[in-house]
Amino acid sequence: MSIKQLLHQPAIGEKVTVKGWVRSFRSNRFIALNDGSCLATLQCVVDFEHADENELKRITTGSCLAVTGSLLESKGHGQTVEIIVDHFEVLGDAPVEDYPLQPKKHSLEFLREIAHLRPRTNTFGAVFRLRHALSFAVHNYFNKEGFFNWHSPIITGSDAEGAGEMFRVSTLPASGGDVAEDFFGKETHLTVSGQLEGELGAMGLGKIYTFGPTFRAENSNTTRHLAEFWMIEPEMAFYDLEMNMDLAEDFLKYCIQYLLDNCREDLQFLDQRFADEQKGKPQNERSEQGLIEKLEFVVSNDFVRLSYTDAIEILKRSKPNQKKKFKYLINEWGADLQSEHERYLVEKHFKAPVVLFDYPASIKAFYMRLNDDGKTVRAMDILFPGIGEIVGGSQREERHDVLKEKVAAVGIPEEELWWYLETRKFGTCVHSGFGLGFERLVQFCTGMGNIRDVIPFPRTPGSANF
Ligand code: ATP
Ligand code: MN
Repeated sequence: MSIKQLLHQPAIGEKVTVKGWVRSFRSNRFIALNDGSCLATLQCVVDFEHADENELKRITTGSCLAVTGSLLESKGHGQTVEIIVDHFEVLGDAPVEDYPLQPKKHSLEFLREIAHLRPRTNTFGAVFRLRHALSFAVHNYFNKEGFFNWHSPIITGSDAEGAGEMFRVSTLPASGGDVAEDFFGKETHLTVSGQLEGELGAMGLGKIYTFGPTFRAENSNTTRHLAEFWMIEPEMAFYDLEMNMDLAEDFLKYCIQYLLDNCREDLQFLDQRFADEQKGKPQNERSEQGLIEKLEFVVSNDFVRLSYTDAIEILKRSKPNQKKKFKYLINEWGADLQSEHERYLVEKHFKAPVVLFDYPASIKAFYMRLNDDGKTVRAMDILFPGIGEIVGGSQREERHDVLKEKVAAVGIPEEELWWYLETRKFGTCVHSGFGLGFERLVQFCTGMGNIRDVIPFPRTPGSANF
């Protein structure tokens, strides 16, 4: 039986067997056992006077145990029930001299170096359980809204997605060779986005969503970028940008509410961790809200919606721009927004999630629908406090002639995208979609500052261990 089950429906007086890893063993008597099913440990009380001394010595932090005994109400502090151990078996030793995860505070940087063991810590246990719950909430949401889960390919034959630098996929020898001799007979890459193929699904199934790995060979060593990350990309026929923004906001709120309703224990633990971490930061970098407070704020308030043009006006007049504190000063319409500007809008000016829309066509992708002004496109980005961009989406250009022109203007050969263009030639319609970076959502919900700490085995420039 899992510890979670035992704690939630305690079968007092019954004999139970529990398997897990020892977190600590004190006074030769009290084992704190954790099996990963929940944050809490189960206290197991050993009668050391009647136990084999050599076996007792094998109970060390990190060792794996099977424990059998009666479940009783606990007289001690900090737990409601405990097991009075009749019998225990050491399934796997963890010699004290070698085991790196002794019960003390370890830095997140150190734990990244032992990513194979970090799921055994309270912090990473909580983060990965929440990651699971969020993933479950994502599927729940789209299923209940009538979307179909669609699997876009991971190996792509088009290098026209334009979302970032790509990783090459090849079976040619490292020394190179003729592309025609390569596995697929052409150059192939790991996908940077499942969107273009997602659109093909939406143009037949109506509403689809992808939830898969995406890859970007961008050399950005930030706390918000991975070379391999998971992306959720819904695409909807007959949705305009307005409906797209409504969906994204409703979806994000649903996922966050799901955690508030179902993952209280882990959230409370991370809320405390977050609060402790804030204390170590300079005053001006501290979060004004606690973690749970932040999540509750997001679900219960409307996101601010603002056009790019209005955002530029606010930024131009802002203090950091006037006092030349921004690294990139905002002088004119058309400037690409950097994360410092996005964070100013969200964290200082509005103090709320912000949806920016109608960006200049020149700084956005070719497939976004051109507005009648001829210079802006129906794009939208959702910006979250502490994270910056969490969602990027748009209404897609559905007019065959306009799309063809834009493809040509960015220099993509038509043969590359003939299949994409055909959806506009045959039965085209207004449609929209967006991409949500799953790890950025997990970051927001767990309060973890570095994206490397919300995915089990992060891939970043120069690092693909484990
Ligand atoms: P950014 O400006 O932050 O690099 P982007 O404009 O490249 O983002 P999109 O191409 O619109 O992002 O991708 C959609 C979403 O995927 C983003 O809103 C973000 O949540 C997420 N995302 C993008 N790149 C990464 C990355 N390297 N690692 C993790 N998540 C990412
Ligand atoms: Mn990027």
